[in-house]
Amino acid sequence: MTDSYDLVVIGAGSGGVRAARMAATYGARVAIVEEFRVGGTCVIRGCVPKKLYVYAARFHDLFDVASSFGWQVDASFDWPTLVANKEREITRLEHAYTANLEKPGVEIIRDRAVVTGPNGVHLVGQDRELTAKYILVATGAHPYIPPIPGAELAITSNEAFDLPALPHSILIEGGGYIAVEFATIFAGLGVNTTIIYRGDCILRTFDDDMRRGLEAGLTDRGIRVIYQTTIKSLAKSGNDISATFSDGVSAPYGAVMFATGRSPNVKGLGLDTAGVKLTAMGAIAVDAYSQSSVPSIYAVGDVTGRAALTPIAIREGGYFAETVFNNNPMAVDHSQIPTAVFSDPEIGVIGLTEAEAATHGDVDVYLARFRPMMNTLSTRTERMILKLITEKDGGKVLGCHILGPGAAEMIQLVAIPMGMGASKADFDRAIALHPSAAEELVTFKAPTYTYRDGQKVGG
Ligand SMILES: Cc1cc2nc3c(=O)[nH]c(=O)nc-3n(C[C@H](O)[C@H](O)[C@H](O)COP(=O)(O)OP(=O)(O)OC[C@H]3O[C@@H](n4cnc5c(N)ncnc54)[C@H](O)[C@@H]3O)c2cc1C
Repeated sequence: MTDSYDLVVIGAGSGGVRAARMAATYGARVAIVEEFRVGGTCVIRGCVPKKLYVYAARFHDLFDVASSFGWQVDASFDWPTLVANKEREITRLEHAYTANLEKPGVEIIRDRAVVTGPNGVHLVGQDRELTAKYILVATGAHPYIPPIPGAELAITSNEAFDLPALPHSILIEGGGYIAVEFATIFAGLGVNTTIIYRGDCILRTFDDDMRRGLEAGLTDRGIRVIYQTTIKSLAKSGNDISATFSDGVSAPYGAVMFATGRSPNVKGLGLDTAGVKLTAMGAIAVDAYSQSSVPSIYAVGDVTGRAALTPIAIREGGYFAETVFNNNPMAVDHSQIPTAVFSDPEIGVIGLTEAEAATHGDVDVYLARFRPMMNTLSTRTERMILKLITEKDGGKVLGCHILGPGAAEMIQLVAIPMGMGASKADFDRAIALHPSAAEELVTFKAPTYTYRDGQKVGG
């Protein structure tokens, strides 16, 4: 039996759900195929559970300063409670996503889908064929696992949320945001945590002050960070896992986690049969409107390897529906994306880093480092860092980088004036809100230092 649709979406994650819902709202006959759980990575095993676990971990810092505010706290932590409550919340969200699809009439098919041609999709479990005027591939990505002996002993972010019990110690390989966020989570929950990274500092693409500031914050919380080293092999050692490193040293850990990047979900999808071209990185190659090399096949979200973030997948999915089903071609602007790292300390950034801006022309850098007010009654010495990078002499704001409590919330709002092309003078016109950390962004006077003809001046 063959069923015909205007649109078949493969993958009910952030991008696929938005695209399916909007296309159906515009009157299209839509089916969405999902092999795991509706909601995709973000809801089931990404942003949402991650942030809930970060909240859990942050009680540690609160308890640390509590006595300075007069509180005596005798706290203990129960992992199964957190896991069960997380599961309840993501199930609630899964149902909400399902209802949002069903409302405009999207048919949800629970199966694995394979593309059979420009207009054909095969349902693996049901052994059924679908035809579609358009196919949208929104299959996301999966954790990359280094091909080393014993790799199967390690976990990834997929398993980390549902461990039967917290390990006594964990070794996390990777230097990206997922590695440092999980280090924050495990360390905050009392696990002896080590990060191992092949590079010379975590968060490779971030501004150097954010990278060094976070490194100090992680170390301050007892997290060990080992650089320029990789895991060569893993082996069982009693109840532990013994990791052997590239320098020949071996050590036992209660758990080992790979956070070594994510690869697009293209394997076994039948894309080659249909003639869909991939990029050198193995993602689906698309144009500004998310159209692949096959005109009837589009792709959005992590599988396209553009910016692997939920709001980007959602916007790409929405703009795809606008373009194809509302006769209103819209291309996503990937140039200015606010980004957060929910580590402790937290990071929020947007725009150019200092190193990038220095090659951009003459720029001014405004930098503030201070103890967050929350710490002033305690012995904690950690500094908050706020950095504003502008064109010279009060010109356009090019970048904003914040490390410390509330950084993510602040940077979301900074994204509005920056999207409007605001200048330093526009920031200066805003009246400060006191006492807050964010007021520093509108009270900077002279630049801390500048770059003229690519050379750093002052500072
Ligand atoms: C630990 C972690 C933390 C994260 N934190 C953040 C964050 O704080 N903020 C942020 O913006 N982003 C975060 N992300 C990234 C975010 O989750 C992704 O960018 C987003 O989910 C991508 O959406 P998508 O629609 O492209 O794919 P996904 O949400 O991954 O959805 C793809 C869906 O396709 C299904 N699928 C795959 N192949 C098939 C097939 N052949 N047939 C049927 N179904 C199929 C999958 O089961 C999945 O449900 C995080 C990711 C991880 C792993």
